[in-house]
Amino acid sequence: MDNPMDGAVEIMKKGGTLLGEKCPRCGGVQMKYKGRVICITEDNLSENLKTSKISDDATLSNLRDIVIEKLDIVSNSLSKENDVSKQAILVDLLQKYVLLLKDCENSNQNTKTSDKTTN
Ligand SMILES: [Zn+2]
Repeated sequence: MDNPMDGAVEIMKKGGTLLGEKCPRCGGVQMKYKGRVICITEDNLSENLKTSKISDDATLSNLRDIVIEKLDIVSNSLSKENDVSKQAILVDLLQKYVLLLKDCENSNQNTKTSDKTTN
């Protein structure tokens, strides 16, 4: 990443926002990312992206909590729903949530090294 704008684009993809105010030191463009203000000309953007790994895990567990909550709400509505076509929509939604939940759990497992060799 030689071009600082490439890093800026990466940060924006990950939820960073461009700030209207210029950097007080160099007049460069500033961004807000994970609660921190980053100057795109002075700060090492790729370094900032790397250190965000820990926060990504937190985001993932947040997402997991949200999905579990939604699963609960949707399954409650499903139990009360008599309309078959609405049930179909709810079931579809539940399937998507379950898949998302599995994805979250898979990503968590990637960090733990399971010993499958002891079969
Ligand atoms: Zn600056």
